[in-house]
Amino acid sequence: MRFDVITLFPAMFDPLMQVGVIGRAAAKRVFDIEVHNLRDWADPPHYVVDDAPYGGGGGMVMKPEPVRRALSAIRRQAPDSLVVLTTPQGKTFRQQDAVAFSHTAGVIFLCGRYEGVDERIRSWVDEEYSIGDYVLTGGEYAALVMVDAIARLVPGVLGNDASAEDDSFSEGLLEYPHYTRPVEFEGMTVPSVLISGNHGEIARWRRQESLRRTLLRRPDLLARQELDDADRRFVEDLRKGNA
Ligand code: SAM
Repeated sequence: MRFDVITLFPAMFDPLMQVGVIGRAAAKRVFDIEVHNLRDWADPPHYVVDDAPYGGGGGMVMKPEPVRRALSAIRRQAPDSLVVLTTPQGKTFRQQDAVAFSHTAGVIFLCGRYEGVDERIRSWVDEEYSIGDYVLTGGEYAALVMVDAIARLVPGVLGNDASAEDDSFSEGLLEYPHYTRPVEFEGMTVPSVLISGNHGEIARWRRQESLRRTLLRRPDLLARQELDDADRRFVEDLRKGNA
C-alpha cells in the first residue's frame, strides 16, 4: 500500500516516518509514504498557495491551481489511490474506515490550512474525512492520525499481526483490560484467571470484560452490536448488577 500526503509542512511527517512501529515499517518499505510540498506546484516567483476569500471576511483560502497540479501529478504515480480531503466537515473517521482503507492500493491525503480549501477542490476528491468535532489549524494532524490508524493494519506492520484483532472497535466493542508483571503491585492483584493457564477460561473472561467495559463506557457501541446467547445473558446479568 502507498500513502501520499500533500501539505505545506512536510516536516510534520518526519516523526511518523522515523519512530515506532510505523517508522520501522516505513523504513522496511512494508508500505510506502511520499510527502509532497504543495508549494512545489505553485507559481514562481512567490509560490503563493492561498488568496483572500471572495465576499470578504478574515482568513485566507487555499487556491485551486497548485492543488489541481499536485493531484494530477501524484495520480499519475498512484492511479489507483483514493484522494481524501481532511476537513472538519467530512464524515468522522472510524476504525472500520481504517480497515477499509488498509485494503486499498493507496490513499492521497490533502491537508488543508487557513480557512480551508477553495470549494471547487472538493470536486477532485473521492472522500472527505474529519477526525472529530473540533477545528484544527491544519489537516496534517488529521492525516497523521489516519495514516497511523490505517498503516498499523497493513500486514507486516505490527510485530504480531494478531494484536490488532482484539483492539477496541475492531469487533464493535472496547478491548478487555491488560495486565503484566508483577502479579501484585501496591495491593492490586492480577485477576487469577489470567495466570491460570486455562486458555478457554481466559478467552471467556476477556470477552466478558470487553462487554462489561463497553456497557459502562460506550453503551452506544453495545446497542449496535449483535450478541450471541451467552453474551446476551452476561449483559443482562450486568444490567441487573449480578455480574
Ligand atoms: N474554516 C474551516 C471550517 O470551519 O470548516 C476550518 C478550517 S481549519 C482552520 C484548516 C484545515 O485544518 C482544514 O482545511 C482541514 O484540512 C484541517 N482540519 C481542521 N479540523 C479538522 C478536523 N476535525 N478533521 C480533519 N481536518 C481538520
